[in-house]
Amino acid sequence: MKTVIANLGRIVSGDWRNPFATGDAIVIDGEKISSVGTAAKAVIDSAEVVIDADGMTAIPGLIDSHVHITFGDYTPRQRTVGYLESYVHGGTTTAISASEVHVPGRPRDVEGVKALALAAQRCFADYRPGGMRVIAGSVILEPGLKEADFRELSQKGVRLAKAGFGAVKTAYDYVPLVADAKAAGLLTTCHTGGSSIPGSGAITGDHLLKMHPHVSFHINGGPTAMPDADFERVILESKMALQVCTAGNLRTTLLCARLAAKHNAFDRFIIATDTPTGSGIMPLGMLYTIAHLSSLTDMPPEQFICAATGSNARVYGLDSGLLAPGKAADIVLLDAPDGGTQSTALAAIKHGDIAAIGAVITAGIPRFVGRSRNTPATTRKARVAVSRLMQDFSAATH
Ligand SMILES: [Zn+2]
Repeated sequence: MKTVIANLGRIVSGDWRNPFATGDAIVIDGEKISSVGTAAKAVIDSAEVVIDADGMTAIPGLIDSHVHITFGDYTPRQRTVGYLESYVHGGTTTAISASEVHVPGRPRDVEGVKALALAAQRCFADYRPGGMRVIAGSVILEPGLKEADFRELSQKGVRLAKAGFGAVKTAYDYVPLVADAKAAGLLTTCHTGGSSIPGSGAITGDHLLKMHPHVSFHINGGPTAMPDADFERVILESKMALQVCTAGNLRTTLLCARLAAKHNAFDRFIIATDTPTGSGIMPLGMLYTIAHLSSLTDMPPEQFICAATGSNARVYGLDSGLLAPGKAADIVLLDAPDGGTQSTALAAIKHGDIAAIGAVITAGIPRFVGRSRNTPATTRKARVAVSRLMQDFSAATH
């Protein structure tokens, strides 16, 4: 299927060092973007679907790198079905598992945690709730796991490992486990800050620096922050990705962003939600954190959109997160919310408002065009101008 998005007002690339792409159109071929810029009349005439963006802003689909996946589109923590599909209506097109610790009665032995990670990875390999891609299967680091176990998981398709909820005596016991997981090629992540749910303990700067995982999960606190002085140490003394989460401490989110910019470490600054947890289900969580960071710092909104898209993709090795030829066609149309004081999506975000979503496309398929059921209405009106398919892609209204 070939789709053209025409009449765009602005294109945010996803690369914070070069955050805008020129032009007013994006062409999609199958599941990939084939060109960004202009679309010739012959290309538009040959497309099955043409979306008129009415001057809206295109951004890459948001990548939430901290979601508590279990199985199916269900969260036991909040006893809710359909939350992933609802996050698509908040512009999140990829969710990355923060490990399957919320599975009720989850196993704690070596064979059990391996089987859990593998089962989760397999269950989401082709299952796309609401069109969302889910990267699931993060092995929970427990004492007794060896490098051979991590190699076996890696060979079978598991890509992630998580420190923070295992039966260790102190967080320093994660040091050899993280080293073995890294040696086997897994991407390692670590809970940061005070303990969250029963069974987790405080992990602060010194623990992180000894472990050196690829990603410090919710470095701003999940939900309780580590000491302020530890932020600068972790930024200066490591190469860890600095993940800030909506369900954390807002003051240290801002502190971390300012320090990352000051120390030329913004490549490592990534945005996520850490939901669903005790903090709840937040379909607009990514948009909230982007708006908080944009409106409460001197940095521009496109920089934080890129931290929520291209930077997450780079850290996790995904083929999405950038609006560029060859990348996954995961695209969100944003606009100023109806009834607000600002005239564009970026101005609204800088103002502190939640941008309105006018369309979401994942894997090249429009999941809805017109109206998100979770954001305010858009000021402009995106519409399907041409469809040669038996489908008009209008949003389901609830
Ligand atoms: Zn979490």
